[in-house]
Amino acid sequence: MKRNKQSLEAALGEIDRRHLRRHRRTVESHSSSSVVVDGRELVNFCSNDYLGLAQHPAIANAMAQAASVHGAGSGASHLVTGHGIEHAKLEEDLAAFTGRERALLFSTGYMANLAAVTAFAERGDTVLLDRLNHASLIDAGLLSGARFKRYAHSDVSALKDALRDETRSALVATDGVFSMDGDVAPLPDLAAAASEHEAWLVVDDAHGLGVLGSSGRGTLEHFGLSAREVPLLVGTFGKALGTFGAFIAGDNDVIELLMQRARTYIFTTALPQPVAAATRAALALMQKESWRREKVLALTQRFRSAAQQLSITLADSNTPIQPVIIGTAEAALAVSKALLDAGFWVAAIRPPTVPPGTARLRITFSADHTESQVDALVDALSSVTR
Ligand SMILES: *Cc1c(COP(=O)(O)O)cnc(C)c1O
Repeated sequence: MKRNKQSLEAALGEIDRRHLRRHRRTVESHSSSSVVVDGRELVNFCSNDYLGLAQHPAIANAMAQAASVHGAGSGASHLVTGHGIEHAKLEEDLAAFTGRERALLFSTGYMANLAAVTAFAERGDTVLLDRLNHASLIDAGLLSGARFKRYAHSDVSALKDALRDETRSALVATDGVFSMDGDVAPLPDLAAAASEHEAWLVVDDAHGLGVLGSSGRGTLEHFGLSAREVPLLVGTFGKALGTFGAFIAGDNDVIELLMQRARTYIFTTALPQPVAAATRAALALMQKESWRREKVLALTQRFRSAAQQLSITLADSNTPIQPVIIGTAEAALAVSKALLDAGFWVAAIRPPTVPPGTARLRITFSADHTESQVDALVDALSSVTR
């Protein structure tokens, strides 16, 4: 693109023409599951704060307390002088929580995914990705320089065919819970296929962690899978744990190689220690207060049965991510706007985040929602989608 006004205007005009312009709204205050935007209170049905921990006072206090001891910034990368006591303790907690030898912290899930893929696949190898994987895994595959293939969504036989034809070393990567669809990857079969071909398997459990499994350990616990079956587990803190940052958990050597090779680990400032301290508090709270997980899943089921009674078409998801597929970007925006007018904030998700023609409402539930808020949402949804 040329550096001039006409080129910029043309690029932005094209985005508008396709109804794909993105806007932000400034949230003036949070209280439980509601937010104030432009002076109006809205019930928030589009955050990833599934357990209602993002504003939890005990977690905020842990952050403030650590800031008063360690300061706000880490001052360097982990491999220089940025690795502190709170980081070390959080990594130990995460290793214990995931039942793996070690865990390694990253500043974001995006960076953890870039690391997990590029440390184990390079030029001369092949990366196999689910078509609906999170953008960061797709970008990781491209960045790796490996041959890049996408298999049909959750299609184990397509993956097996691709692996059977593969003469190179391979890495398979999948979301555990798909972020825009809420469905769960067929992990036992994916793990068996990857293992049979000695291919690495990366599972990004950003939306499973804290939500699935009898003790909130995520999609792997849901299926009873271990480190042997899934060598690279990526988890994020910005979703159910309510803080910020990410980790990769695995065997000693896996983590050691990541530390040596992953450029998004080596060439970046360590996460602030107060964030690590807050995340430790969140991890403990999440395990202690299992009612949060039970409640968000119960609200999800309440939503599904009420919506089905009103003939609202739902997706095949039993997680707190409940998409309602609308179709065009323009129509999805209109429905989202109508819900906003009714006091509900439900984001319209458009391409390129989702495939063309599948623009949707992405409704998410939190342990902070009440049953009556969920019922009111279903009523509003039924009148605006009619
Ligand atoms: C949010 C998300 C990420 C990115 O995590 P950040 O910590 O927000 O960068 C990665 N993968 C999935 C599936 C996600 O939903």
